[in-house]
Amino acid sequence: MPIRQLSPELVNQIAAGEVIERPANVVKELVENALDAGANRIEVHSEGGGSQLLRITDDGAGITRDDLSLALAAHATSKIASIDDLESVGTMGFRGEALASIASVSMLRLRSRRHDADEAWVIEAEGGPAGEPQPASGPPGTSLEVRSLFFNVPARRKFLKTDPTEQARISEIVQTIAMANPGCAFTLRLGDRTTLDLPAVDDPRSRVVALLGRELSDELLEVDFEAAGATIWGLAGTPQIAGPTARRQRVFLNGRPIRDKAIQHALREAYRGLVVPGRHPTVVLFIELDPRLVDVNVSPTKSEVRFRDGGAIHQAVRHALKGTLRKHDLVPTLDLDRSSGGPSSSPSGAAPSYGGGGGGGSSSRGPQREFGSGLPSPGFEYAAMKSELEQPVAPAQTLMPAIRKDLRILQVHAKYLLVEDAEGVLVIDQHALHERVMFEQLKARIGEGALERQQLLVPDVVEVDEVAIESLETLSEMVAKIGFDARPIGPRAISLSAVPSFLLSRNVEPGDFLVEALAFGSEKGRVDDAEALLSEVLDMMACKAAVKAGDRLTQHELEALLAQRESIERATNCPHGRPTSLRIPITELDRRFGRSS
Ligand code: ADP
Ligand code: MG
Repeated sequence: MPIRQLSPELVNQIAAGEVIERPANVVKELVENALDAGANRIEVHSEGGGSQLLRITDDGAGITRDDLSLALAAHATSKIASIDDLESVGTMGFRGEALASIASVSMLRLRSRRHDADEAWVIEAEGGPAGEPQPASGPPGTSLEVRSLFFNVPARRKFLKTDPTEQARISEIVQTIAMANPGCAFTLRLGDRTTLDLPAVDDPRSRVVALLGRELSDELLEVDFEAAGATIWGLAGTPQIAGPTARRQRVFLNGRPIRDKAIQHALREAYRGLVVPGRHPTVVLFIELDPRLVDVNVSPTKSEVRFRDGGAIHQAVRHALKGTLRKHDLVPTLDLDRSSGGPSSSPSGAAPSYGGGGGGGSSSRGPQREFGSGLPSPGFEYAAMKSELEQPVAPAQTLMPAIRKDLRILQVHAKYLLVEDAEGVLVIDQHALHERVMFEQLKARIGEGALERQQLLVPDVVEVDEVAIESLETLSEMVAKIGFDARPIGPRAISLSAVPSFLLSRNVEPGDFLVEALAFGSEKGRVDDAEALLSEVLDMMACKAAVKAGDRLTQHELEALLAQRESIERATNCPHGRPTSLRIPITELDRRFGRSS
């Protein structure tokens, strides 16, 4: 083929491939444009999964007659003028390619009227250059109609999923954007059904709650964190409303939805040990950061970002969430009415809910509509934030009501303890609580160095398989840290010359433990996250050393266990996230016995 200059239409169509893969992408671009134009009300209407018709109407600033054709031209934007502007761009769009791309793959009709203009103007394009603007009628603002999306790119059309799937994606994107923009009213009409009708509110909490579901309101704890100018505001779900997917996890950076591995990881870390594996906590976070410290220009859809210092953000998110979770009483209530259903069923099959979480009032702070306002102080520096974060954390301050100490502790069925606190009756799983207590102690000790070890006069020889020998080598650091002095002697034997004192004191056979830990550590992918692996292995230790169901405890032992409950963090859940205690509220008992006032 001879070399040819591509036509502008073809260039736009190719560009469209990057940003516009499906109707939901069109919705995202057009809704963001409306927000950039200062809209207070945005209506989205979709027919046939969006490929038949998309109409986005706003009451924003509007476009002048003369700018209409420019709006559809490639690389035409009103939002940046020079490369320097990119540094601090405060609008959602700035590449000036969305409208041109969409116009190149659809039948587009753009009607707009400036607030100060007497009439509206309309311009149309059918997969190519736009015609001349024509006068039209209509209220101030802009309405964009996109019909027959991809009519001239059959290959792309083939990639579209069924209408309901595309609709779900449209709905998802509208909800996401609406979450970050509570000051703007949103409606979404899919076919002839209005599926979303959100009034403008001035309180970010109520918008998030409206979208997550009002029934979750009591289970959403407020996150409000500030470190050297960066702010994190949001709502963190109690462990109880963790869901089977990560759908209810959303992170926004300066109003923009982002996906970021490091932040996702921080989130998991914050909830580690509070939710069982396979469950995903509900978390909505709005991070506000000086835009100069992030590069959002990494991907055309701008959902991936590059932080100047990802580590600091990771730490800040973790601190923010942990701080919130620590401040609340997370003891689940044994809700006797709710035999099934509820926000989510608990792993044990019962359906406890978290009562008294006290989501608290709403904050005046929240996601910022206008990026220019409320930005962190220009002097913000990661270094400052880091040093602030590295300050020792204040000792655990839980709102967990204290257990009455002057009463006899009842051990029932040799596995549960019955005690009373100000709110009601607590049922405690002795194994789960003891496991958490020992886990926290082990973690504290390992934080100061390696676990204490006991030298063996005669080394112990343990028979193992080849995998264990290999895993001993890769995990040697961790093995030493938890208190073992272990060396391979031959292809199938390990010699132990020192073992963790902790295991001996709790009558756990150290050789067996090491073999199990090595097998666990050699499972796929575990070696990659050393911190997580260490944590898991410490938990194995704690679990093996903890009292079991069936162990009768003396009154003295029971008292010691309960005393420890109040001195550690996350006493409400065992390290695997299962609850250690359930509360039957005294009000519930009163009601059941007909004593309610
Ligand atoms: P970008 O948003 O990156 O600037 P677009 O192609 O999305 O590029 O839009 C091009 C221009 O058209 C914008 O910069 C803006 O000036 C104008 N525009 C688009 N949509 C609207 C709207 N809903 N209201 C007012 N102006 C708009
Ligand atoms: Mg745009």
